[in-house]
Amino acid sequence: MMSVNDKIDAPERPCDFCGAVNGLNRVENALGHILLCPLCMDDNNGNNDAYWRCLEGAAWSEQPAVQLAVWQALSKIDASWAREAAENIDLAPELCSGADP
Ligand SMILES: [Zn+2]
Repeated sequence: MMSVNDKIDAPERPCDFCGAVNGLNRVENALGHILLCPLCMDDNNGNNDAYWRCLEGAAWSEQPAVQLAVWQALSKIDASWAREAAENIDLAPELCSGADP
């Protein structure tokens, strides 16, 4: 599971999921770190299908840490578009099996 470090004042880039620029948090995962806004970190937002469509774009990131985080987020969403997007992420098989939230 992800662990959260300090809030950052001068982020190096927008939210890796949705592109928001405010209130970003640095989140570590197995492959590095990503930047997430409060909405993208909010598990209670999990049923908000329309919001999470931003992950379809985020899935194209070239950063492995982002790919992993997007894949994990998609795997929690019970929708056909989410499954398709997750399948398009080129994750190493050992990561998929070990990446359960
Ligand atoms: Zn976000």
